[in-house]
This record gives sequence, C-alpha cells and structure tokens, in this order.
Amino acid sequence: MCRFITKHGLGALLRAAAGKYDVFVPAQREGRGVYTRLSSNGAAVETGPVRTVDPLKAFFVKPRECVAEGFSPVPPLTENRPLCVVGVKACDLKGFRIQDFVFAGEEFRDPFYCRARNESLIISSDCTSALDTCFCEAFDERPYPRGDFDLNLSPVDGGYVVEMGSEKGAALIASCPGAAAEAAQGQTEARDRQRDEVSAKVRRNLKEFQVPSQQALAESVERHYESTVWKEEAETCVECGACNTICPTCHCFLLYDQKDAARMVRFRAWDSCLMKGFARVAGGANPRRELSQRLRNRFEKKFSFFPKVAGEYACTGCGRCISACPGKIDIRRVMKRLSEHV
Ligand code: SF4
Ligand code: SF4
Repeated sequence: MCRFITKHGLGALLRAAAGKYDVFVPAQREGRGVYTRLSSNGAAVETGPVRTVDPLKAFFVKPRECVAEGFSPVPPLTENRPLCVVGVKACDLKGFRIQDFVFAGEEFRDPFYCRARNESLIISSDCTSALDTCFCEAFDERPYPRGDFDLNLSPVDGGYVVEMGSEKGAALIASCPGAAAEAAQGQTEARDRQRDEVSAKVRRNLKEFQVPSQQALAESVERHYESTVWKEEAETCVECGACNTICPTCHCFLLYDQKDAARMVRFRAWDSCLMKGFARVAGGANPRRELSQRLRNRFEKKFSFFPKVAGEYACTGCGRCISACPGKIDIRRVMKRLSEHV
C-alpha cells in the first residue's frame, strides 16, 4: 500500500528523523543539486529533479578518513550519528551494489562502511526530469528507485507518494502519526505517468547519443583491448581524477600514515586509477605507465571485470563523469566507438 504525504508533512517527518539521524537533503546551488544538512529553520525540503552533483558514496566512504591510530588493530571510535540521506536517485542506489561488493563483501568487511550502511536511513526519490547526460536505461535501470531504499518519495501535486521499503522506513512513518495518509488512486496514477515520461526522455538520450545496448557493451572492451581508441581518447585527458572521484561506483583508495603531535595515524583517501602513480609498485615498476593504458583500465574494470566478479556493470549511467571531465571524454562516445569496431 502506498501512502501520500504533503510537503509540510515531509518537513515534520524529517524533523522527527533529525532526533536520531544527521539528515542531509538536496539543495539547488547555481542550478545544480548538492547535498546539504537539513536546516532547522523549517525551510521547505525539496527532493531534487535529478541526481545531485556529489555522489552518495561520499557519505559512506569519506574522501579522507582516519582508519587506525597508534598501530592499534582496533578501529578508532567515531562519534558520528547515523545518517539519513534524502532525495537519493536510482543511479546512486545502484552504486551501492558495487560499493557493498567491495566494502561489505564475503571476504572483507570494512567496519566504517558497514556501520554507516547498517545504521543509515535512505529516503530516495524519483527523478522528475533527466539531464542530457543521463543514460541509466542503457543498463536496464530506471530513473526511479525499484528497491534498496527505506522510503521512496514520488513527487505529485501537493506532496509525495510514499513507498515503504524496510521496517526502518515504516518505523519512521509510524513515529509521526497522521503525517501520511493512504494514497489515492489518482496520485499513484500521476506518479506512474511521470515515471513513464522521464523514462522516455532518458531513452531519447540513448537514441540521440547512440549509446550501445548492454549486449553490445559486453565483451567490447576485451575485444578491442589493443584498439587505437584508447590512445585517441586519452589525448585530452589531464589526469585530474574527476571521473573517478565523482563516480558513484569508483571505490579505489590509498592508505597512508601520518604522524600527528603524539602518534602515528593511518588515513584512507580516495585514489584515482587515471593517476600515473596509481599502479606503481615499490622499486618504481609501473604496469600502466601510459595514460591510454590507465584510461583503458577504467573501462575494463567497469565493463569487463565487475560484470564477471559481481554480475554488475560498475556504471550506473548517471553521467557525472561526462559533465566533470575537463578533457571532454564522454563515456558514451568511447563505448559507442568500441562497439562499432568489428
Ligand atoms: S562511469 Fe560515469 S556515468 Fe558511469 S556511474 Fe561512473 S560517473 Fe556515472
Ligand atoms: S575527468 Fe577526464 S581529464 Fe580528468 S582524469 Fe578523468 S578522463 Fe582524464
């Protein structure tokens, strides 16, 4: 059963959530969405028309984080409150599938990530628009969440249709009696119409940019491992690492030790496979000395390695790397060029 909550009701719900969680909501800055803390001044909450600029992963694996102190095997205590992130889009939820595989898999469980994941509350929302760079439908995703959320909000006239995806989500609704009523049939129909319209816009993007199908993507990196495409595309790369840091599925990190006033502290920081030193080993040998090899590695990992080991492409079609790349390297164009080779 779906519920309906007014905008005012959502504000009350999130203020109730703030009693337990650090609540982050999307806000518009210079025409783009970024996450910001829920304001305590009662300002209206928006769920945002499309994904934010900043990827969801930044809440769960921080760009730089202390992971050990004084050589102790016991992870340092953190005083962080549980997180509640609002307005998460389907493409960022898909990013969780890769991040979970890496940080909460069977072989290794990262205590910081697992704690943040277990304690957090995810209130996702449908996209009500699509950027020209959105191509989630290429991976059979949709611009609205179909799972992996605690609550999902679909904006309709006057408020939101609410779907409950977990007991945690249901408990939050129950903690605010009267905040959400049963959704009327007209409201769920309006939600479905809007979903179809946004899906159609994303599919028009696929057509316009001639994004290859999943079937064409499979194996295309392996088949064209020695293609000149890698060198040609790498010509404009400036090794800034933006494509990695902004990507909801990229997860590579560097560990380094630093001495503070009293003792050694170990930090984990995001790393980028486009950087020259990324694969360098002690003694100076570097298996990916050439920039074109590093660019190829990024695609190989996303479209060959992860489908094999995790059964998922490590790309959600969010388009962030397309917008962020100063070298104008468009992941859709690279994949199209590869899929066109015989
Ligand atoms: S590779 Fe680019 S389009 Fe794909 S998930 Fe990462 S940032 Fe988004
Ligand atoms: S964002 Fe573009 S220029 Fe920067 S490292 Fe990635 S591919 Fe290279």
